[in-house]
Amino acid sequence: MTLAQVWGAVPAGISALMVKVEVDVSQGLPSIGMVGLAQTSVAESRWRVRSAITNSGLTWPNSRITIGLSPADLPKTGTSLDLPIAVGILHATSQLASVATELAFLGELGLDGSVRPVPGALAAAITAAREGFRSIAVCPANARAVMAVPQLRPIIVSDLAQLVGVLCGTAQESSVSQADAITVQLAESLDFAEVRGHEFARLAIEVAAAGGHHIAMVGPPGVGKTMLAQRMPSILPALEAEMALEVTAIHAIAGTLDSEDALMSRPPFIAPHHTISVAAMLGAVRAARLVPGAVTLAHGGVLFLDEAPEFARPCLEGLRQPLEQGCLSLMRVERAVSAPASFQLIIAANPCPCGLATDRAEACRCTPMAKRRYAERLSGPLLDRIDIRCSVSRPPVTQGQVIGAEPSAAIAERVRAARERARHRFRECEWEINAHASGRRLRSEFSADQAGMSMLSEAELRGLNPRGSDRVLRLAWSLADLAAIDRPGRDQVAVALALRNQESGG
Ligand SMILES: [Zn+2]
Repeated sequence: MTLAQVWGAVPAGISALMVKVEVDVSQGLPSIGMVGLAQTSVAESRWRVRSAITNSGLTWPNSRITIGLSPADLPKTGTSLDLPIAVGILHATSQLASVATELAFLGELGLDGSVRPVPGALAAAITAAREGFRSIAVCPANARAVMAVPQLRPIIVSDLAQLVGVLCGTAQESSVSQADAITVQLAESLDFAEVRGHEFARLAIEVAAAGGHHIAMVGPPGVGKTMLAQRMPSILPALEAEMALEVTAIHAIAGTLDSEDALMSRPPFIAPHHTISVAAMLGAVRAARLVPGAVTLAHGGVLFLDEAPEFARPCLEGLRQPLEQGCLSLMRVERAVSAPASFQLIIAANPCPCGLATDRAEACRCTPMAKRRYAERLSGPLLDRIDIRCSVSRPPVTQGQVIGAEPSAAIAERVRAARERARHRFRECEWEINAHASGRRLRSEFSADQAGMSMLSEAELRGLNPRGSDRVLRLAWSLADLAAIDRPGRDQVAVALALRNQESGG
């Protein structure tokens, strides 16, 4: 009779928490106790484990069993600890000789001893790999999630008896066919080839994609702002491996994935309606579980707010932290939980409450006061973080032949090449995209050429403030990267000023 230590994992917010399961089997009246903030679903595991062990032809000890879960101060929910608890009991009673320390166990146990899938296996696998584990024992249905993480090897078993056999070297693992392994979700089929006209807005979105800039589009209702925004993901680069796992784990926990087997390789596009609640926008903690909000679902992709001034004020103000830090802290009783929320923001707004001010000005009945109040709903601090402000007007009705617009694939290739140039230029910096470049270093090391800088100075004399001036420089770099030019000049600064809705002069 000894003390056994086995590792498992439980869901924790968007991620997972590795849990050390210690099992002590000692002399005394037969009993089983559990310490370490086990919530109901975990506490009930005692009875599942007991039936699973006896129904697998193994021996349930007629002793006093104490199970400790650590870290002890964090609540643990779910049924994923069934398997490590069972393994701990078998190890403590010498029915299993040894358990490797770099091996973790994940699974619910049926009363018959079968190992059943648990939700959040991908998040558990990502966390386990980060913490140095090499292998996770899971059932076939969870195996693909483990296989998605290159550092991990799954040990695939269908029931407890098989697991004991595999660990003792007397049984074979189950296998899952490679064909099932990872199916990549297909990108949605929206394409810029379907968007006619809108040359300037198309350029604005291309620049936004190249430099990672947030963008605001202002124009009358029905003019095509949503159509343009929806096509942004079609020109963004595919998610890199680490980000694809993180994004997939978020959507797996939120239940917004078709299947946990599919790795999301395209940036998500999240477009909440303006009536969304603050909890649904920013996320919430319910029953010790984090429910990801729209800002977290948009992580790695695009958050699109149509009719942005209509969103509740706390929804808009809650965007400031994610826009600055790429994550969001949610307060709960015991502590703050952090959720990733690094996204590219697109906001669309009408020019006035009725929407007609720029389109059919004679029909607009909005008072100057109402117009100002509408504009002020998008608070300064939010607009301040948006590099591109672009007007979208109704494209002229074309007669006769319609010329095909450039398809997304061609634009995506320019965006990819532009990002590559920026990444190379910033290889010694802590950022990779123009939108994140430090204003100070832009002026000292990454300025525009002389003609470009003098044009910028002229704009400053006309009232462009220093922060705005930094933003113009960042945009000028994205334009230069798209054009494969080594340093932005007068042309790029002029277009950058136009993208900020500033007159370029001269
Ligand atoms: Zn109006």
